[in-house]
Amino acid sequence: MVERTPFNRVHLVGHEAEYLSEAIANGQLGGNGPFTQRCVERIAAVTGTDFALLTHSCTAALEMAMLLCDLAPGDEVIVPSFTFVSTANPIVLRGAVPVFADIDPRTLNLDPQAAAAAVTPRTRAIVAVHYAGIPADMDALAAIAAAHGLLLVEDAAQAYGSSYRGRPCGALGDMAAFSFHETKNLVCGEGGALTVNRPDLIDRAEIIWEKGTNRRQFLKGLVDKYTWVDVGSSYLPSELVAAFLLAQLEDTQAVNARRLAIFARYMDAFADLAAEGIVGLPHCPEGSVGNGHLFYLLLPRPADRDGFIAHMRAAGIVAPFHYVPLHSAPAGRRFGRASGTLAVTDDIAARLVRLPLFADLGDGFDRVVATARPFLEALLPRRAARR
Ligand SMILES: *Cc1c(COP(=O)(O)O)cnc(C)c1O
Repeated sequence: MVERTPFNRVHLVGHEAEYLSEAIANGQLGGNGPFTQRCVERIAAVTGTDFALLTHSCTAALEMAMLLCDLAPGDEVIVPSFTFVSTANPIVLRGAVPVFADIDPRTLNLDPQAAAAAVTPRTRAIVAVHYAGIPADMDALAAIAAAHGLLLVEDAAQAYGSSYRGRPCGALGDMAAFSFHETKNLVCGEGGALTVNRPDLIDRAEIIWEKGTNRRQFLKGLVDKYTWVDVGSSYLPSELVAAFLLAQLEDTQAVNARRLAIFARYMDAFADLAAEGIVGLPHCPEGSVGNGHLFYLLLPRPADRDGFIAHMRAAGIVAPFHYVPLHSAPAGRRFGRASGTLAVTDDIAARLVRLPLFADLGDGFDRVVATARPFLEALLPRRAARR
């Protein structure tokens, strides 16, 4: 029987059940209780921000961010096409238009030149994704945002604990959204966070979070009764979720270090094939530190990628690809607009494959490399013949 190597497996740090019991004993199960507070303190410290809110997903945090951008119908927000749908959906939910810009072929993050070229008089914001936990070129994007009076939002779903030129992801724009979905580095099933770096947006962020009421100001004793004051929704997770998450957040450094070690071993294991031009590998720019969120290979041709996935599957190893570029997805075509040709996005999306990377991968690592290499080495003669 072939041993199966999953693509991802949740890593438990050990204190989850204890904190859950404590939350149950506390008797306060709704949101915004003591565990939520302790999570938020940790998130603020890791992201170098003063203000964070726990949310029930990164998608929810991005919806809050787009509400805070005060988008009007027809407004435009620049996003990469090479990303998860949740980068774009919150824009569409506000009646605004996601404008898809191309990515940098080395980091697979929003290309600042492409973003600048996508700006129109209707542009209100840029949402940059830190793909694979490797930060986007935020200084260049911040300069574009400043030049045109745009808000800059980080989709930092994959980048908890990463840093850019010595500054943590989460503190690099006006707002940032994080994910603690079970597929990310730190998890609570479904969960997320929003950091807000603009003091003038904080009061409204709290109101939107609490269903459009000033309940938070009431709890702080700032008003003597609370009422409906603005639009909002229920974006808070329960204390049960926060309790589980706190255990995970307390282990951030250890979990990210384990993933980064596996990431580094993958880089070594394929370095010779990258030097031969057989595979492309992730690239973390000088001055940035990733968090080992994911590892990918770029195969020479789309057919090689599809053959590779089938080869790995036959050995019981799950190696998926992503993303279907949003500009070519049915909803992306209907609700959004492409800026430029998006040639890099289309090329990368057709050749990228992800390898299993999770904290408890263990021996699975050797199995993945031993299975992958013969397939890739067999591509060598063809490459040599073409030279
Ligand atoms: C995972 C992910 C999201 C969505 O996160 P959820 O917590 O599942 O809502 C958004 N953007 C990117 C880039 C992601 O990888």
